[in-house]
Amino acid sequence: MKGPVFLFLLCFGSALAQPSPFFHGDRAGKEVALTFDACPTRSGGGWDEEIVLFLKTSRTPATFFLSGKWMQSEPAKARELAQEALFELGNHSFSHPHLTAMVDPDIRKELEATERLLAALGAGRAPLFRPPFGEWDTRLVGVAAQLGLTTIQYDLASGDPDPGIDARELADYVVRQAKGGSVIVFHVNGRGWHTAEALPEIVSGLRRRGFTLVRVSDLLAGSDRAASRNRE
Ligand SMILES: [Zn+2]
Repeated sequence: MKGPVFLFLLCFGSALAQPSPFFHGDRAGKEVALTFDACPTRSGGGWDEEIVLFLKTSRTPATFFLSGKWMQSEPAKARELAQEALFELGNHSFSHPHLTAMVDPDIRKELEATERLLAALGAGRAPLFRPPFGEWDTRLVGVAAQLGLTTIQYDLASGDPDPGIDARELADYVVRQAKGGSVIVFHVNGRGWHTAEALPEIVSGLRRRGFTLVRVSDLLAGSDRAASRNRE
């Protein structure tokens, strides 16, 4: 079996399955994943220290999707994230382009440049890829899979880039809408306007509902276990 085909089967489990992103984990389970995107801003970087401080002090695991441009602008912050064992770091492309409009070699360059920066951090890297703007198609997911990356979407957009949603509304919405296996999106580049303020209530509200907060890799592993149970 040729390498890319084997990788494809490995990632998607079935020769018949169209390559598709991971949207959420096991609905019958009680695990949810908080994810934080570091999209580049006009200045390249941007950082919301309060989010990371809260996650660390409350011992809350999380997955961060870092763009290459962001990492180049915020090298110290990227290293800080990599050094925290609660966190895992995935690929959010290099320059945050509309990848579905690009040819395969250019997509590969975007993903590989970011993988090199993640690898240089020395820790924390997870083989996960989140497409910019939530835009994906089977070709993009296939190219990512050839590079060993699982494409991660979400089933719950917090809405935190909207400055019109205050912390109370943000917390209420996320806690109410979360389901077993949910992958929830926030922003850590300073463009999540009320994220840090809402986060303590979100984390305690989700825990009150009986959810365990995990990283995306843990959700993936849990849904693999659920899928093999269902096949038995
Ligand atoms: Zn983004």
